[in-house]
Amino acid sequence: MKREEVFNFSAGPSVLPTEVLEIAGNEILNYGGSGMSVMEMSHRSKVYLEIFERTKSKMKSELSVPESHEVLFLQGGASLQFSMVPMNLMSELGKGKADYAVTGNFASIATKEAKKYGTINIAASSEDKNHSYIPTQSDLKFSPDADYFYYCANNTIYGTEWQYVPETGKVPICCDMSSNILSKPVDVSKYGIIFAGAQKNMAPAGLTVVIIDKSLAGKEMACTPLMMSYKTMIENDSMYNTPPCWNIYILGLVLDWLEKQGGVKGMEKIKAEKAALLYDFLDGSSLFNACAEKGSRSDMNVTFRTGDEAKDEDFCKGATKLGLTNLKGHRKVGGMRASIYNAQPIEGVAKLVEYMKEFEVANRV
Ligand SMILES: *Cc1c(COP(=O)(O)O)cnc(C)c1O
Repeated sequence: MKREEVFNFSAGPSVLPTEVLEIAGNEILNYGGSGMSVMEMSHRSKVYLEIFERTKSKMKSELSVPESHEVLFLQGGASLQFSMVPMNLMSELGKGKADYAVTGNFASIATKEAKKYGTINIAASSEDKNHSYIPTQSDLKFSPDADYFYYCANNTIYGTEWQYVPETGKVPICCDMSSNILSKPVDVSKYGIIFAGAQKNMAPAGLTVVIIDKSLAGKEMACTPLMMSYKTMIENDSMYNTPPCWNIYILGLVLDWLEKQGGVKGMEKIKAEKAALLYDFLDGSSLFNACAEKGSRSDMNVTFRTGDEAKDEDFCKGATKLGLTNLKGHRKVGGMRASIYNAQPIEGVAKLVEYMKEFEVANRV
């Protein structure tokens, strides 16, 4: 198939803007007259440091990151942050305390990991209804002396998204924004730590962006590996060792593209339009049902099903033939999942809805 014939709904790694891939392709052998590829240059060279600084400052300006916070470019995926957060924010092994909201697969993994390091209180869990909803502020049971509160802003597998920032008083908030970062403005000052794996909305897999309130760094457990200390990375501007140079370069190109879409404010409008196309259809459909409850639905990962596994499978097969790929839901939820991240054009969503309409008519009972 040709790229133009495919709309890729993969949950991650996911579609990148074609324009970005074209620029990267054109520059792949010779970046900016340097005579070499970005993949081949020293991370300490002048030409690379320019790419690095430009990407970092774009990230800061797109998300209006305040002076109190630093942007880090790390590795180990979002999953390494599940360990880095407790190791850095609980100052002594076994003595710390944190509150976790368990609203899906990745929040659950993060909770299990944190239990190795301290006392974990489940502030709320949506497991009772297969993670189809987000707890309200009044559902959240906080410990006043917690070192931090942790939640996952967008639940990639279940298709739910927090529509508010929890109010925790003085307790710092740590948030996994892997699957909705850069899809809307965020008040960074409300957060102690924001982290996101790049492969959903930013760049190829291998880069993790961390935005951290600098005052939280430097209190890590004595046993914290050097490479997992936020302090090490802040002091060395993410270059204690070789950073994921190529991914950072691609992130810079994605941020250029994002700016042309009107930045995060522009993206917020576009993503709401795309999500409304799907949810409006689902709410009026006699065949398909949205999995997530109204008021908790994700604008990035839209989960739905027919209620009949054989039909779901037929639907996905037929979709693939039309170039609508990677719509099969995660095995924990079943059904379908359309990941409509920033780089998913609205045409892809419109074509998907057209196909859903046809499928509904063909399967009318
Ligand atoms: C994909 C994803 C992860 C896992 O990311 P890795 O980079 O593979 O570790 C964690 N959290 C959320 C919300 C995700 O969508």
